[in-house]
Amino acid sequence: MANMEFKVFWDECIRQIRDNKIDEAEFHLWFEKLIYESYDNSRLIIAAPSRFYQDQVIKREYNKLIEETLEELSGNKISVEFIISAKEEPTPPQEEISQVSQPVSQVYDEKEELPPSKPVNRVAHPQLQTNFTFENYVIGNNNDFAVGAAKAIADNPGKTQYNPFLIYGGVGLGKTHLMQAVGNEVYKANPKAKIVCIPSETFVNEFIQSIRTNTQNNFKNKYRKVDILLIDDIHDLQDKNDTQEELFHTFNALYDYDKQLIFTCDRPPSELKKFNDRLKSRFQRGLMVDLQPPSYETRVAIIKKKIEATNYNNEIALEVIEFIAKNITSNIRDLEAALNRIIGYSDIVKKEITIESVKNLLTQYFTAAPQTNVSIPMIQKIVSDYFNVSIIDLKGKSRKKNITFPRHIAMYLSRELTDYSTTEIGIEFGGRDHTTVMHACSNIDGKLKADSTLEPMISELKKKLYS
Ligand code: ADP
Ligand code: MG
Repeated sequence: MANMEFKVFWDECIRQIRDNKIDEAEFHLWFEKLIYESYDNSRLIIAAPSRFYQDQVIKREYNKLIEETLEELSGNKISVEFIISAKEEPTPPQEEISQVSQPVSQVYDEKEELPPSKPVNRVAHPQLQTNFTFENYVIGNNNDFAVGAAKAIADNPGKTQYNPFLIYGGVGLGKTHLMQAVGNEVYKANPKAKIVCIPSETFVNEFIQSIRTNTQNNFKNKYRKVDILLIDDIHDLQDKNDTQEELFHTFNALYDYDKQLIFTCDRPPSELKKFNDRLKSRFQRGLMVDLQPPSYETRVAIIKKKIEATNYNNEIALEVIEFIAKNITSNIRDLEAALNRIIGYSDIVKKEITIESVKNLLTQYFTAAPQTNVSIPMIQKIVSDYFNVSIIDLKGKSRKKNITFPRHIAMYLSRELTDYSTTEIGIEFGGRDHTTVMHACSNIDGKLKADSTLEPMISELKKKLYS
């Protein structure tokens, strides 16, 4: 059969697949961008928009589905092969490069593949963590699909069919890191892009505040005029009907203008309770991916990467790394906390890290997570005893350092170990504003990174809470 005649079969094959064989969302994602290229001698060549797209089509066995359908239609065995359409990875037009070449503080990236003229922005984006990049994100078979999609989005925000992009999965599996990696990548390529990256809680609080102060228009302008909106932990919006409604409208405003939306959630959206159905169905339009716990090999790779990233100069024996990877299987956050604890310990006692010392230091991580429910008053009590400050002071107004530090630690623990929102925690600490709590938490987060002795202290407090 001649080349163009066969196209009729292809068109019919696609129609049948769409109408009878798979659901609409899947079709929209994985078939609409496949383009008939040529046919010769029982070989059909199809163009896919990118290698990632092609790999996904094959991984999902859609090539087989196409072959099957074509055989039904034509009565012949036909093999499907792919090529990548020439449009992949366009080089940016010249003016885009010159656009970003002006900022005062800029450096040239060390990566070889970048053209030497490409400047990189050095000023950190206020809402993005600088270390949450793709370079620092270890790829394993638990997350390769998610990372592939995230990179495709970072290359072309708003322009791929992965809009919105929703990353879901359990705690500590890398949702926030991956989402922010997209933000960081876009920011690096285009420092002028309007990127907003916030926890859901901020969206809720600012929305409430805008109602209180009658400034809803400012709120709308702020969120409906961005190029890429990243909202973390949308499960926190459960029960918050008005905010969900507002997010729905924000979503529509951005989506209609091809602006990229990315969300994270601790469960598949279908399992969200008390959640606006219209909003849930919007998530279906793009791509949802889940992050699974990493395999043993990936855990080893992650530990190695994390060690590289610390200033720790002494070698950690491979057997020690493997021992940690074997025993801490829950999530990457625990893996990281365990490693910080070990490094902190070895820095203090100036002793080499052995499997024996690791065993002693990490008992709390090796056992299953404790089930006791921790309350804010319990945390205040333990912190007050530990630092020898009164609970009244913890809740009071004193700004003396010997009181603010324990206060921040107590807020941080409340945020980490209980389900209360920052607003509720603020109330428990003398009626403070939620932003004070958020500030305290990021303050401690920052100190944890800079000072390796803090982690053991926090672990000790946790131990006391759970004993
Ligand atoms: P989540 O948002 O899913 O609770 P995070 O994104 O905060 O988890 O990740 C927890 C910690 O684990 C972060 O410090 C992050 O850098 C690290 N992490 C998660 N996944 C990876 C990965 N694939 N490679 C390297 N580090 C990771
Ligand atoms: Mg997170």
